[in-house]
Amino acid sequence: MDTQQLINIDRRHIWHPYASMLDPLPVYPVERAEACTIYLKDGRELTDGMSSWWAAIHGYNHPVLNAALEKQLKSMSHIMFGGLTHEPAVELTQKLIELTPPSLQKVFYSDSGSVAVEVAMKMALQFWIAQEKSEKAKFATIRSGYHGDTWNAMSVCDPETGMHHIFNKALPVHFFAEQLRCRFGDSDVQADLDSMHQILDVHHTEIAAVILEPIVQGAGGMWFYSASYLKELKAMCERYNVLLIADEIATGFGRTGKMFACEHSGIEPDIMCLGKAITGGYMSFAATLASDEVAETISKGEPGVFMHGPTFMGNPLACAVANASIDLLLQSDWPLKVKHIESQLEAGLCECSELSNVEDVRCLGAIGVVELEKAVDMAVVQKRFVELGVWVRPFGRNVYLMPPFIISDEEIKKLCKAVCQVIKEEGNK
Ligand SMILES: *Cc1c(COP(=O)(O)O)cnc(C)c1O
Repeated sequence: MDTQQLINIDRRHIWHPYASMLDPLPVYPVERAEACTIYLKDGRELTDGMSSWWAAIHGYNHPVLNAALEKQLKSMSHIMFGGLTHEPAVELTQKLIELTPPSLQKVFYSDSGSVAVEVAMKMALQFWIAQEKSEKAKFATIRSGYHGDTWNAMSVCDPETGMHHIFNKALPVHFFAEQLRCRFGDSDVQADLDSMHQILDVHHTEIAAVILEPIVQGAGGMWFYSASYLKELKAMCERYNVLLIADEIATGFGRTGKMFACEHSGIEPDIMCLGKAITGGYMSFAATLASDEVAETISKGEPGVFMHGPTFMGNPLACAVANASIDLLLQSDWPLKVKHIESQLEAGLCECSELSNVEDVRCLGAIGVVELEKAVDMAVVQKRFVELGVWVRPFGRNVYLMPPFIISDEEIKKLCKAVCQVIKEEGNK
């Protein structure tokens, strides 16, 4: 198929993320991707600053991950999980239990991050239903969060960036604490805690769980908040008899400099969601982990089982590549590498903070964010990044980099230079 034909059919028939079908922005056909480079069909080469949305931590087309998939393919690509089990799933479970906080002992596999969040929320509900407290059916969260696009996941996303007003007749209404002001490293978190305290104090008898992204709020605002806040919040949840769900779908597997962002605060959530980088970005797969207490309480209550079971649950191909990806990560010197990326991003993006259209620049682990005063013009900005040979996809007011961990210093410099240049051009308009 020639490139123009491909673009035409795509434009006429295929929906892309958050896109119009009447006047979609251009999409760029990709031929292949290798390590940190995306090769476009038109011959251009782009340095990847996105890890395909937090996922491709080892870069693209990795020989070890490819081999794991090929090996698994020869025995079975999929088998139903009802009544059957297999080594890839059991091996992955051992790894996840070993890596995550010790209280998390029970693992539920699903197909995507949003579903892992739905599963977590259902677990919280069933935990209370089993104790004859079905009135605990609401959730509390903080503004600027992002938890996915399915129904209940969407209901706990930031009400503005998640556009709750569009769905307000159909969406369950939950409790939102004020946007966090504390930054990563801050110790005074009282004002932020007060907002959640007010909600829990008045409504704890109706609230099943607090759900949040530990330390880094991703797509909803790219905000890095204080580890003390999370630590205090966990204690508050215990005082008010409310579960804590940690959505580590973006933060998990080293991205923030810890294997899981909860470790910055030393807390153990009752339920934890994993996704995105779990397969090294190879395929859609997710896990929801629960404590023994949550899992056993659910199983003791009516109806005696957890009410969820996706068709592709525990997919062997996904488990096999997840096992290989976790092994690769553990064999690498990832804490040092991520720390190094952090300092490279800081050095490369700091010149942006001088620009008049820039509100804030922040870096944590392998994440660098430049927050602008106004939302970028995607049509212009996306084209400019491609012209400069990088793949960076801003969202709203945030231009951000979260490259694969294997990225070289040269490649980070190129990404940062392009970000600074495009933001400068935006400011001169
Ligand atoms: C991406 C993301 C999700 C949703 O995952 P999908 O695989 O896109 O459904 C949920 N929570 C967080 C924190 C995410 O970053």
